[in-house]
Amino acid sequence: MDTHAIRLPFLSVIIPVFNEEENLKPLFTELVDVLNSLNKTCEVIFIDDGSKDGSLAVLKDLQKTFSGIRIIKFKKNCGQTSAFDAGIKAAQGEVIVTMDADLQNDPRDIPKLLEKIGDFDAVCGWRQKRNDSFIRRISSRIANAVRNKLSGESIKDVGCSLKAFRSVYAKKMKLYTGLHRFFPTLIKMEGGRVTEVAVNHRPRKYGAPKYNIRNRMVRSFIDLLAVCWMKKRILTYEIEE
Ligand code: UDP
Ligand code: MG
Repeated sequence: MDTHAIRLPFLSVIIPVFNEEENLKPLFTELVDVLNSLNKTCEVIFIDDGSKDGSLAVLKDLQKTFSGIRIIKFKKNCGQTSAFDAGIKAAQGEVIVTMDADLQNDPRDIPKLLEKIGDFDAVCGWRQKRNDSFIRRISSRIANAVRNKLSGESIKDVGCSLKAFRSVYAKKMKLYTGLHRFFPTLIKMEGGRVTEVAVNHRPRKYGAPKYNIRNRMVRSFIDLLAVCWMKKRILTYEIEE
């Protein structure tokens, strides 16, 4: 009988990928440096969300050099929330870090997020200096303000994918399309403690952004109404006897 205990990783990094072929190698090089410096067991889960470019081939190539890479490939493009959901469900680590594949998030911020895990169940990156177009920055600012006002939150930047979670809390979230923009609220609804830390944000060098004002603003406003409803109707009963 094999008596070796199966060692589960401490950290699972989850990265949704949709047509990011040029970004994946440089991203992974940066990420591996940071993960090595942590001295923890790690896995990196890439979710190929129906890419039409060479992303999957690049990921498979990277997998040959690093056994900690896991790849989940969707049949077709299903969106970032689906990709996060598949990654969170597959994650084996005690702690989960989520981030974008486009090099806009900086892996060197990961230790900063991990420092606060333990005191908090979710640590959200706040892109203090956004490196996006003026129109994206202003629309994001309005969206954050409306979201906070209507949902009674005070989150500075829900749109930043760079976040760390205690896995037990991340796995409790029941996700629907678009709800990746509401992770802090969903974690709080599960009784989790949430904080934010300032992180670096870099301009996109390769590939194209996947959202525009039209497909982001209207849909996320409808999603916001759904989240407000969920928050209002959350079950809060306590059994006395
Ligand atoms: N993404 C995805 N599926 C989609 C759209 C985006 O997996 O349908 C990924 C994308 O490859 C990137 C991340 O989600 O890794 C964020 O996308 P993007 O950079 O376009 O968003 P932004 O930075 O503008 O919020
Ligand atoms: Mg981006």
